[in-house]
Amino acid sequence: KRRNPYQPEFVQAVQEVAEDIFDFMEDKEEYHAQQILRRISEPDRVVSFRVCWEDDAGNIRVQRGWRVQNNNAIGPYKGGIRFHPSVTESVLKFLAFEQTFKNALTGLPMGGGKGGSNFNPKGKSVREIMRFCQSFMTELYRHIGADVDVPAGDIGVGGREIGFMFGQYKRITNQFTGVLTGKGLEYGGSLIRPEATGYGAVYFLAEMLATRDDGLVGKTAVVSGSGNVATHAAEKITQLGGKVVTLSDSGGFIHDPDGITQEKIDWVKAHKTHRRGRIQDYCEEFENASFHPGKTPWGVPCDVALPCATQNELLGEDARTLVANGCMAVSEGANMPTDLDGVHVFKAARLLYAPGKAANAGGVAVSGLEMSQNSERRAWKEEELQQMLKDIMAGIHERCMTYGRQDGGYCDYVKGANIAGFKKVADAMLAFGVV
Ligand code: NDP
Repeated sequence: KRRNPYQPEFVQAVQEVAEDIFDFMEDKEEYHAQQILRRISEPDRVVSFRVCWEDDAGNIRVQRGWRVQNNNAIGPYKGGIRFHPSVTESVLKFLAFEQTFKNALTGLPMGGGKGGSNFNPKGKSVREIMRFCQSFMTELYRHIGADVDVPAGDIGVGGREIGFMFGQYKRITNQFTGVLTGKGLEYGGSLIRPEATGYGAVYFLAEMLATRDDGLVGKTAVVSGSGNVATHAAEKITQLGGKVVTLSDSGGFIHDPDGITQEKIDWVKAHKTHRRGRIQDYCEEFENASFHPGKTPWGVPCDVALPCATQNELLGEDARTLVANGCMAVSEGANMPTDLDGVHVFKAARLLYAPGKAANAGGVAVSGLEMSQNSERRAWKEEELQQMLKDIMAGIHERCMTYGRQDGGYCDYVKGANIAGFKKVADAMLAFGVV
């Protein structure tokens, strides 16, 4: 806290990892001597820059952009770009720190980074978004590269924004390289990248349930968010026989006791992405659904919960409500959606609880596969990628079990993910000496 005043999200993320790593490091003198934890929690660099653009009315607007390159011990920096008014240096540092462990957990050679801007895409025209993306890339291009740092999408940055940024990168550098992932299929993107994070979070959930000889058939699921991760998580739960009853956005949540079927999910995707509408409009489209303004969905009784919106959206009291209502498993599609109090509640209740750095790693894993396809100038088939994603999620689950297994067969997935991710990066850092 003293080293990072006014950066609460970053301090929270480091504290959560440190709680597990201290125990693990106790008898490992070299990690202490080499100050590995301290070095991992100090980003390699934080680049901050001005992004200047012109709105449709001819006004000059000024935003702040960042790229946080946290650690490249095991591969080029890799992590998404977020456009949201809540973006600060603290938020991006926490995300880049978490990304370092997540990327290591996938088993693929990727370091950790994150970037973004406090630009608010809501209410902006497509041309305004294009001008902003071009201006953002006009500075970012000098800090990234296919073997240096490979950004992707995140909140507020989907396929369209990646297209605008890739176009500008290519124009400035005159190079066609795999410098961004989440690209369109026409210009080097990978099949199933849009689906990968949400699908992966559900595959991980299924792995956890399998340890109790259980599955998703007949389970009631509460999902938050209504963006890329939430809608694809809802889709996969439905495909595997579960019933999703909620979705949300920053305005509140909708509860549909009849279940949010594939047809309804398709409507949400089109409404939120193409029409850029609000989730509350769902209730005008589908009967029996209710809208709860300004609220999160954690009070709705469920068997499984998937927070898929944003950080700190599930607090200690929400965790206690979920446990009291009999929820048996939580799989985090979002990054750090549960606050520290909530994490402690889930651990104490011995819930099947998967932190984002394990459960939502499917997205970056398929991004890693997109990088491989770009390097080889090839494209894998959908079935091959689906199988690779499933295998990668099973591998992450296995790595978490290796370090998280407790007495009585219970697995502390937070501990398992933290230690497995840390060990891989730390051992590479040891090999490099003091750099
Ligand atoms: P989207 O922009 O597609 O969707 C974000 C969703 O979360 C929207 O429903 C949005 O509502 C809601 N939301 C955003 N900020 C807030 C807030 N402050 N309070 C309440 N709701 C909010 O983003 P993604 O689906 O891509 O990302 C969701 C989460 O998943 C993030 O934590 C992201 O870091 C994480 N993630 C994403 C990956 C990916 O591949 N896309 C990979 C790994 C993790 P509204 O429309 O009102 O803004």
